[in-house]
Amino acid sequence: MIPFSPPRMDQRIVDEVVDTLYSGWITTGPKTKRFEKLLTAYGGHQSTLCLNSATAGLELVLHWYGVGPGDEVIVPAYTYNATANVVVHCGATIVFADATDDFNISVKAIEKAITPKTKVIIPVDIGGWPCDYDAINALVKRDDIRSQFKATTKEQEQLGRILVLSDAAHSIGGRYKGRMVGNLTDITVYSFHAVKNLTTAEGGAICFNLPGPFDNLQVYQRLNTKSLHGQTKDALAKNQIGNWRYDIIEAGYKCNMTDIQASMGLVEIQRYDEDMLVRRKHILDRYKSALSGYKWAQIPLYESPDRQSSYHLFLLRIRGVAESRRDEVIQEIFKQEVAVNVHFVPLPMMTFYKGLGYRIKDYPVAYDNYSREITLPVYYDLTDDMVDEVVRAVVKAVEKVLGQEH
Ligand SMILES: *Cc1c(COP(=O)(O)O)cnc(C)c1O
Repeated sequence: MIPFSPPRMDQRIVDEVVDTLYSGWITTGPKTKRFEKLLTAYGGHQSTLCLNSATAGLELVLHWYGVGPGDEVIVPAYTYNATANVVVHCGATIVFADATDDFNISVKAIEKAITPKTKVIIPVDIGGWPCDYDAINALVKRDDIRSQFKATTKEQEQLGRILVLSDAAHSIGGRYKGRMVGNLTDITVYSFHAVKNLTTAEGGAICFNLPGPFDNLQVYQRLNTKSLHGQTKDALAKNQIGNWRYDIIEAGYKCNMTDIQASMGLVEIQRYDEDMLVRRKHILDRYKSALSGYKWAQIPLYESPDRQSSYHLFLLRIRGVAESRRDEVIQEIFKQEVAVNVHFVPLPMMTFYKGLGYRIKDYPVAYDNYSREITLPVYYDLTDDMVDEVVRAVVKAVEKVLGQEH
């Protein structure tokens, strides 16, 4: 069986983790702080806070920005549910926006969805492909949109407009017009979950890149405290001689990263561009050249003159296929011992969101993308021979279900 997405593991990662285990300090400490510094240097943003997940990062930012009941947050219909669930946790209202042909949120749909209640937009770089951030950033700064923004907290007053919070769970290392994902919007959140490009088993990070008058180090401190129960000192600081006393300044959350997790990240970030991204690009190129000759194969966009993906997913679409036939193709691929996946079932198709009143017919492009999509395996240890085997399985399955002539 060719698995879908096992984590990359080697002796360097094992050694770094073991070093932490015997170091006398296993929770948030020196390695997490070092990992944060390397991430800041890598993304080119202002400061980075590591956490136990991307979900926690998105939610902390919404709380910090004062998002609550009566507020609206614009989220793509085509994403993983974490992007939308955090809005529900804050008591705010989700406003879904349809996708475009490249799977990402449509800027036109965002524009239509904006109301005086809109506080945040959460674009998602699906499969690692950066959204059109120049267009999104220009939209929130447009005079007519800025003037209808109603600030209800100090932070909202300081920014004076809708916050752009990028869900970059897929896209660390992606590039847009020469800049890295991390400094393309006000705030960006990475995921280091086990299936993501750069993993710490579970984990995530908030990249701060807020404009003046915000001090991104101060905002980092504020959210660091928020991630640790609102406690003014973390365990490491309290461990210093005579430094035991602390205060609680709010009912915060508990979502810090451990040094065990950070040790995996430290190894990976230092070889990410030269090693992980090179390997993943090679796999996508190999799929592309093997499948481009088939009329039924629609190859995903992962490079253009102004954008470069993080090569996280290969989102193949079958032209002219109905959802049920696509499902049959997937079954035929699995029968050949190859694991594939679908990214994603649009959220308005899920029971919970349907219950809130959302209907998939309002998001026709998201549905079309989903109904024809099959995600092929992409991971560090996938060899060229395995890529070729995946291609053979896909071609055989499509020809069996749709006929040779398709
Ligand atoms: C994986 C994922 C998340 C959540 O990441 P966690 O680190 O598991 O919380 C959020 N958004 C998208 C698009 C994802 O794929």
